[in-house]
Amino acid sequence: MSKVDLHLHSTASDGRSSPGEIVRKAAELGLTIMALADHDSVEGIVPALEAAKKFPQLRVIPAVEVSTDVPSGEVHILGYFIDYTSPELAEALARFRNSREGRAQGMVAKLAALGIHIDWRRVREIAGEGSIGRPHIAQAMQEKGYITSIREAFDKYIARDGPAYVEREKLTPVEATALVVQANGLPVMAHPLTVADPEAMIIELKTAGLVGIEAYYGGYTMEQVSRLVNLADRHGLIATGGSDYHGFGEIGETMPGGGDVPLASAERLITLAEQRALKAVKP
Ligand code: AMP
Ligand code: ZN
Ligand code: FE
Ligand code: FE
Repeated sequence: MSKVDLHLHSTASDGRSSPGEIVRKAAELGLTIMALADHDSVEGIVPALEAAKKFPQLRVIPAVEVSTDVPSGEVHILGYFIDYTSPELAEALARFRNSREGRAQGMVAKLAALGIHIDWRRVREIAGEGSIGRPHIAQAMQEKGYITSIREAFDKYIARDGPAYVEREKLTPVEATALVVQANGLPVMAHPLTVADPEAMIIELKTAGLVGIEAYYGGYTMEQVSRLVNLADRHGLIATGGSDYHGFGEIGETMPGGGDVPLASAERLITLAEQRALKAVKP
């Protein structure tokens, strides 16, 4: 268990805990640094920062996770210390969330063609105010007894190569990285093993401003972590990490702090953010 977790989800996207609840959970587990990184949303940041006032020992870093699809896999870009008040960012994220609606409806239709009948309105209801995603569809399938776990929904139907998958809006990984940079965030490539050639992707994204890759990822083996730490070192990037906790409550889910992220790696990220802030004041 580490005291650091830079990748947590809340009900602002597809996590099960509200932003306030996730902050409390992190504090109770003894974390000292956490980042809330919801999919295509910064709506959870203000309530999370508000909740964090009760836990002075815990630092909450504002973040976001922007998703893109490329032919070789899914690329998710984390943006740390993002300016969550930026109107341009809010507009771009609202557009992505909007396109998630149509995409989710497309997946519901594909499932129907496969004989799996879930109600779109129920999916929308499960997502609540949050950015809609595949875990919400999986939950609706589970409620109706079509599958017994979220994982099974992905394995059989809605994983990227599954029969009911629908691609997302065509934003490239470089564009997602640039979006984070424009909003004064520090871009980090999430779970880099979701693409066939992580190194080629990292080289491309570095030119757009990438500062780190998620090496200490919940669910990665020690061998995978050390390979990614090595890759980060070779490219002068920070090896960050986190659990990617959603609160699904399934066997094998990494709990907050379970990504074993070294304190030093979060400190490197914080130092970089502070240096950038200073430069912005004194050009
Ligand atoms: P979406 O944003 O709709 O593309 O959904 C992405 C989310 O689905 C991720 O954050 C995970 O929570 C979940 N997910 C993706 N792939 C899998 C998988 N193979 N098994 C379980 N959950 C997954
Ligand atoms: Zn998610
Ligand atoms: Fe992700
Ligand atoms: Fe995530």
